[in-house]
Amino acid sequence: MKSRIPSSSSGKLDQIVATARRSREQRERDYREQALKLYPWICGRCTREFNRQNLHELTVHHRDHDHDHNPPDGSNWELLCLYCHDNEHQRREEALTHIGGGDPGRPAGGGATHNPFANLKTLLGGGQNEKTE
Ligand SMILES: [Zn+2]
Ligand SMILES: [Zn+2]
Repeated sequence: MKSRIPSSSSGKLDQIVATARRSREQRERDYREQALKLYPWICGRCTREFNRQNLHELTVHHRDHDHDHNPPDGSNWELLCLYCHDNEHQRREEALTHIGGGDPGRPAGGGATHNPFANLKTLLGGGQNEKTE
């Protein structure tokens, strides 16, 4: 015996989603406030200092990149300026790309295109053949 969800509940679902979104936004404001209370207003990377005027440029970064992981002791938070925060996420994305690209110990077939010296070698080789003297 399976209990079915009546289709008329979709309106309720919208409400639940809206409520969840609101509480999520609220939670984000909460952890930001907590983090700002807990830590000095300094970027953890470039040590830039912040004050009330430019505080909006200071972001609360999650060390494990899980925005739902907000331990009250602040151990998952790191205050970073916009630039360093951007950087941090870019590095994370690059790391993920490398992991997704397969076995890091074995280059994917024909990995020569990723060799930064491949082009240099060609340039040098061309220079040798083309003697100017
Ligand atoms: Zn910074
Ligand atoms: Zn972040």
